[in-house]
Amino acid sequence: MSGNNTFSETRFIVDHNVGKLAKWLRMMGYDSLFFDGDDDSYMVRQALSEGRTILTRDTGIMKRRVVNNGRLRAVLIESEEPERQIQQLITELDLKVNLRPFTLCMECNHPLVERSSEEVKDRVPPYVYKTQTQYMECPACRRIYWRGTHWEAMVKKLEKLATTNIS
Ligand SMILES: [Zn+2]
Repeated sequence: MSGNNTFSETRFIVDHNVGKLAKWLRMMGYDSLFFDGDDDSYMVRQALSEGRTILTRDTGIMKRRVVNNGRLRAVLIESEEPERQIQQLITELDLKVNLRPFTLCMECNHPLVERSSEEVKDRVPPYVYKTQTQYMECPACRRIYWRGTHWEAMVKKLEKLATTNIS
């Protein structure tokens, strides 16, 4: 991936027990890997070597020495509800909802590249081609994104979550 960017925002590894967080975080522009293996030690090693913050509901991770001594940052997610989970993160880590929207693939975390409408003409539904002008493509999974109603709805939801206090 592009290694010469200057931003230093938090990057994450999302444990499978809070997997839905990955899409929301990618949507905001936060580099977030999804971990669906069984070997927690592998996840911990990867987090350490790549400087990522672990998000999990597994209290066992929180008891590890590397977390206790501060070498590894991990956040214990309190709720089972995805909306409250993202709300907890936004509040606790002071995340920016619109950090770099539309830059990472929501499915695979790969950086998106811009495409002209001509380039995607045969790959998006005709009504989309007629109404949308801005497109992004994931070079890894070939998914094409546009700022349609679904996208706007998710952004609005995020903004709402960011301004609602956890009660
Ligand atoms: Zn992708």
